[in-house]
Amino acid sequence: MGKIIGITGGISSGKSTVTNFLRHRGFQVVDADALVHQLQAPGGRLYNILVEHFGNQVVLKNGQLNRPLLASLIFSNPEEQEWSKETQGQVILEELAALKNQLAQTEAIFFMDIPLLFEQGYESWFDEVWLIYLDRETQIERLMNRDKLSLEAAESRLSSQWSLDKKKKLATHIIDNSGSLDQLLSQIISLLERGEFHERN
Ligand code: ADP
Repeated sequence: MGKIIGITGGISSGKSTVTNFLRHRGFQVVDADALVHQLQAPGGRLYNILVEHFGNQVVLKNGQLNRPLLASLIFSNPEEQEWSKETQGQVILEELAALKNQLAQTEAIFFMDIPLLFEQGYESWFDEVWLIYLDRETQIERLMNRDKLSLEAAESRLSSQWSLDKKKKLATHIIDNSGSLDQLLSQIISLLERGEFHERN
């Protein structure tokens, strides 16, 4: 049996930084955010569902969805958040399950980066869940820098997710990303260097 590892965290906690590193080391990583982008592109399974629900206001002249507008419509309204979680959540689950089953045929070990892994109840899929953790202040600072958001907007994005302290209790391994990039990656290397990974590589 292969090993499937879930990677999660919060927005801007360092998941992509970790998964880029894992890819460089030759591992396959499913990126749930990238999958959602594909599904929301014209012709994707989520595109029509979203246009039907929010109307043409969310369609740009070039036919793509206006993602910042969609995000603000969803994040600013708890009912829309609930709708999105249920409706989009089901389609995303089906598509992620298909990718998981496909990779399980060929890979001894692979990773799935799912930002809302705990919120959406995916933990039973995984042998291990690695949480990319950092203190809230640093998380907000990195989010504001990366996405050019105001403090208020950054806090509102964070408030739609469970706190990293809550997720800490549920994860198999906690990877601290409050420090430098080297400190982050050395924790990943230690986890990869455990015997079980050597046997399978
Ligand atoms: P996520 O994928 O979880 O949203 P990212 O990997 O994009 O998070 O990281 C968020 C931001 O923080 C990015 O701009 C990234 O370059 C930066 N970052 C990540 N880890 C560190 C670190 N240890 N030190 C400084 N900046 C970091």
